[in-house]
Amino acid sequence: MENQRIKGKVVAITGASSGIGEAIARHLAAKGAKVVLGARRTHKLEQVVKEIQNSGGEAAFTSLDVTSPDHVKEFVQFALDTYQDLDVWINNAGVMPLSYLNQYKVKEWERMVDVNVKGVLYGIAAALPVFEKKDRGQFINITSVGDRWVGPTSTVYSATKFAVRAITDGLRQEVSQHIRVGLIAPGATESELADSISDPQLKKLAIEQFRVDTISADAIARATAYAIEQPDDVDVNEIVVRPTAQKSF
Ligand code: NDP
Repeated sequence: MENQRIKGKVVAITGASSGIGEAIARHLAAKGAKVVLGARRTHKLEQVVKEIQNSGGEAAFTSLDVTSPDHVKEFVQFALDTYQDLDVWINNAGVMPLSYLNQYKVKEWERMVDVNVKGVLYGIAAALPVFEKKDRGQFINITSVGDRWVGPTSTVYSATKFAVRAITDGLRQEVSQHIRVGLIAPGATESELADSISDPQLKKLAIEQFRVDTISADAIARATAYAIEQPDDVDVNEIVVRPTAQKSF
């Protein structure tokens, strides 16, 4: 159902080809937002955009790799060229190749830093100038309950999310009083995230133990809509959304 405070807003979402990003795109488009989807798997984006358009929504997509600052800048330009504006930037793209530190999966540590931390910073570098020019805009960073919790195998992943939580609060304090900044920290949510775990045993464990009581990605999309639909002088800074059954982390 359309929402008057969301309708017409141009919302750019990184990592919108599956899971939470895809659910956010569908949910906000149904509420009347013009959604701009970016990720590497463009065939998936094309399908989501087609379905949004077939249901009467406004959506566009382009290829995006958040590990390239130039690519992220081009994504902002694509949103501006397509809809002549940018109102909300959602840093959602992320990877979670869990492992023990003494497995020395150094390349995977680097990838988490590149996507989960640097990707968010590149998003800020690309979208903030647009928001500062019009003195209005909103950042929503999708972190994780791992932005405040760490356990075996999640050390590097949690470190990247702790970093994004710090970046989010620092950004909030630095920007003008008209720019909103917040984070949404999901607990175990249905998505393809566990696919990035390369150790087969850890992947099985993650799916069988930690990801039994998942909530649908739409729960995170609804939280995102809540943050956007508040009046301009209300800045929702943090929302933590866990499955009710998730007690241990
Ligand atoms: P998915 O794996 O389903 O989605 C991850 C998205 O990130 C995909 O669209 C993927 O697209 C994109 N992505 C990965 N690398 C890049 C890249 N280099 N450039 C652009 N896009 C990229 O998982 P989720 O939906 O769960 O993940 C979304 C966010 O939610 C992540 O930040 C994750 O950490 C967070 N989160 C998820 C939880 C869960 O339980 N699901 C819990 C807590 C937080 P593509 O491969 O096409 O590029």
